[in-house]
Order: sequence, then structure tokens, then C-alpha cells
Amino acid sequence: DSDSGVLLDIRGVTKRFGGLVAVNGVDLTVRRGSVTGLIGPNGSGKTTLFNLVTGGMAPDRGSVWFDGRRIDRLPPWRRGHLGLGRTYQVTRLFKDMTVRENVVAPLPDGRWRTMFADAISGSEAARARELLDLVGLGRFADERAGSLSYGQQKLVELAQVLMLEPSLILLDEPAGGVNPTMLGRLVEVIGEVNRRGVTFLVVEHNIPLVTEVCDHAVVLHRGSVIASGPPEVLRRDPAVLDAYLGD
Ligand code: ADP
Repeated sequence: DSDSGVLLDIRGVTKRFGGLVAVNGVDLTVRRGSVTGLIGPNGSGKTTLFNLVTGGMAPDRGSVWFDGRRIDRLPPWRRGHLGLGRTYQVTRLFKDMTVRENVVAPLPDGRWRTMFADAISGSEAARARELLDLVGLGRFADERAGSLSYGQQKLVELAQVLMLEPSLILLDEPAGGVNPTMLGRLVEVIGEVNRRGVTFLVVEHNIPLVTEVCDHAVVLHRGSVIASGPPEVLRRDPAVLDAYLGD
């Protein structure tokens, strides 16, 4: 089938580590234009599922489809090339390079730009400026990335991901380590980027953040989907509360 409203389609995916079933027959769809949350207690399989979508990890069973193409056996850079972007739980910026240099660093083939060898075109420089303004960090463009607050570094990482014009961005615990003021900023920026047409899948422990930023959420527990729907409804779902409090 080809529901053009579905951007990411995870079908019956299972992943085992030895005897442990980390992800167990998961079906999950991310609708084009949505901000979808993936939540669940520690050890429920969120990171594994994330890696099955963006990383080099292949499922034992099932398939992953992105924009109508099967991607579960592709190397990560090919997935990136198709329009799949990701951030990391702990930011991976080049701390001694400037903010601007970090934003222009990724190349479409998965390599990083060598500042000596890979010239920056006028349109790339202009796009980097635009993106830094979009995340509200234009005035920090020439600062060392490592001198920014952690929340600001997460925003630089988002600008960096946006440089390759992804249609879907997976955020791996964006709220982790970010102070409350910057958290508000992060919510605004995700909303703004989403309004410009980018779809998000957000893996996050911080349920209030998920409620604020996501229009739909999926709850994992022991490798299986136990609930999905609007986050404000899920927060009161007895099965979800049990999963969080029970283990
Ligand atoms: P979450 O991100 O929700 O905390 P994970 O996907 O990290 O959950 O883990 C799901 C389960 O799989 C856990 O029991 C974890 O210990 C196990 N697991 C994750 N990665 C590996 C691995 N590389 N090898 C063995 N077990 C793993």
C-alpha cells in the first residue's frame, strides 16, 4: 500500500540481543507533517527502535519504510541522503570550531567537510546564516561551539541537521541536560521548523515536553507498543501509568 500521508512506516519489527527481545513486533507510523513522540520507561526499546530507523542496525524481522522506500538494510549515510536526519542524546559538535563551521560541516554523503578541501558555496553560507537565525543563534555564529550553553549546542546541532534539508528528523532525548529556559526555546524552534514542513519523531523521557511539542505519541513497554494517541490522553491512560510506575 502507499498511504502518502505516512512518511515513516515501521512494520512488524523485531530486534533481539541474544535471548533478550529488545523490540517485539512493533508497528509504528509517523504521519507526514506530524511531531510524533516515542516514550516509555527505561529499557522499553526506544533507543533500539531509533537505531533501527537511523543507524546501521537491521531488524531480525519486519521492515522499515521511509517515504515509500524500504530502508532497513541501507547504511546510515544512504538513509540520510534520502532525507532522514537525526540528533544525538549527547551533542556531537566540534567544540573547538565555530558555530558556523559546525553548521556547514556535514556533507550529503555522510562525511564531514574538511575546511581546507571542501569549499563552502555562497548558497551554503547563506543557508547556514538563515538556519542560525531560525534557531535564534545568529549572533553566536563566530563563537567557539564549546563556549555555548548545552541547550544552545542542541540548537546548533538542529541547525546542522537542517543543513542537509531532511524531511524527517529523529530527536534523541532533546531535553536531556537542557535548562528550563532553553527548553522553552527548544519547544518553540521545533514548532517553527515543523511549520516549515519538517516532520519529527522525538524520543524523550520528559513527558511534559512531549505533551507540549508532540501532536501524537506512541508508548513502548518491554519492546511492544502498549498505547498510542494524543499525549495529553496518554498521560492519564492507566496502562501507561502502570508501565511507568510498575517496573
Ligand atoms: P530504552 O532506550 O527504552 O531505554 P533500549 O532500546 O536501550 O531501551 O533497551 C532495550 C533493551 O535492550 C534493554 O533491556 C537493554 O538492556 C537491551 N539492549 C539494548 N542494546 C543492547 C545491546 N547492544 N546488547 C544487548 N542488550 C541491549
